[in-house]
Amino acid sequence: MSMEKIVKLAKRRGFFWPSSDIYNPIAGFWHYGPVGLMLKKKIEDAWRKMFVKDEGFYEVEGTNIMPEAVFVASGHVKGFSDPLVQCEKCKSLHRADKLVEKQAGISIPEHSSLERFNEIIKKKKITCPNCGGKLRKTKFFNMMFKLRTGATEEGEVAYLRPETCQVIFVDFLNVYRTMRAKLPFGIVQIGRSFRNEISPRQTLLRQREFTQAEAEIFFNKESIDFSRFDEVKNYKLNIQMVKDKKPKKITAKEAVEKGLVELKIIAYYLAKLQQFINSLGIPLDAIRLREHTKDERPFYAKQAFDCDIKTTEGWIEVAANHYRTDYDLKCHMKASGKDLSIVENGNKIVPHVWEISEGIDRTLFLVMMHCFREDKERGWNWFVFPPKIAPYAVAVMPHMKKEKLPEKAKEVYESIKNCVDTFYDESGSIGKRYARADEIGIPFCITIDYDTLKDNSVTLRNRDTTKQIRVKIKELPNVLWSLVHTGESFEKFSKETK
Ligand SMILES: [Zn+2]
Repeated sequence: MSMEKIVKLAKRRGFFWPSSDIYNPIAGFWHYGPVGLMLKKKIEDAWRKMFVKDEGFYEVEGTNIMPEAVFVASGHVKGFSDPLVQCEKCKSLHRADKLVEKQAGISIPEHSSLERFNEIIKKKKITCPNCGGKLRKTKFFNMMFKLRTGATEEGEVAYLRPETCQVIFVDFLNVYRTMRAKLPFGIVQIGRSFRNEISPRQTLLRQREFTQAEAEIFFNKESIDFSRFDEVKNYKLNIQMVKDKKPKKITAKEAVEKGLVELKIIAYYLAKLQQFINSLGIPLDAIRLREHTKDERPFYAKQAFDCDIKTTEGWIEVAANHYRTDYDLKCHMKASGKDLSIVENGNKIVPHVWEISEGIDRTLFLVMMHCFREDKERGWNWFVFPPKIAPYAVAVMPHMKKEKLPEKAKEVYESIKNCVDTFYDESGSIGKRYARADEIGIPFCITIDYDTLKDNSVTLRNRDTTKQIRVKIKELPNVLWSLVHTGESFEKFSKETK
């Protein structure tokens, strides 16, 4: 399934479309429609369940606009830049690192010096990809959106945050104190981030406004004995170290013992992340945890892994994982003059941090790619979303629009709508309605027929197998809850209801 096809389909079925598309949309901004937003919220909820419910982390919600001082301290004002070249002739702008890679086959990190870019562009005679024109000197372009607060020109300078995690670092002490937290603990946030990308892509993969889910896990490096590691020690990671050409399967225990990962806590959260991505309908073989080379990771990061998903167009990163040490807290301590250290067992320490930073929109897009099924036999294409993230869990439809069937169907709808997300549909033939439900990936359909009026049972259809079983109306809330939230198999109920 190509990316363009998904984008077209997404608009037709109410998932997402370009922002403000009755005007000329600006590249890199997208709106979610009703179906896509439900899918997005479910993915966020699944992420939240993993960290807030299962891990007991603390969730915060900070502002999108933050003072300049935060980003001076974090290094973004100085360093959050892309190398940019402009064509002398047609004035088009290009990322210098991407051009060099494309035209000369040389891969150089985006944070290399301007001299290095200019030197290679001159030596390899790199020209404008649009018109072949000569290129001006490379400049660094800061990707943050800058603004001023207040009505006057002299208002304070602020920025739209380019990542959600700075909220977590500046709130670290507030959360630690108010929640009486004990190391190791995590603070998480799901929210919008903003980056003025030079060349946003025509999909959700590189946007200028996007949703991030970030977890910062604070721990004491000296005293950490991470006993929860035992839960995942035999779980196999698809890990690709710098020296490897492709990912290999290795247990979390081996990864720690062989020194592939620095700490148990890192192996644990890599395993959790891989399990999470897998639970969204991405097959294990399409997931890898790729170690960053030294050039790729920031100087303070001791180790970093991308979590990538395989697509028809190669591996695409959905989450970045960094061992950030105590770098961020120390930067904010220095810049703000506030002491962000804490006392543990009589020792004053600044905790170390393992960061998991996931792009929600990217994840959603790649889930759509992997869950798409082209089906000649069925006669329509459909999505095989796992029930826990499907936009709607169930569709309710009267077999025909007559003789009290719609009234009964609405009664059924009312009885389950607070239990799982329910879609009501009574227009068109039953085949068309099944198609419509499959096309947006609704895993179960309930049909109300003449037998329902007699015995108060309904037909429950499984999207993936098209198998149907009879279920009593009064049992529906329990059955649906189990199918959607506890991952119970459809077959179990088919036996029980026979
Ligand atoms: Zn040009």
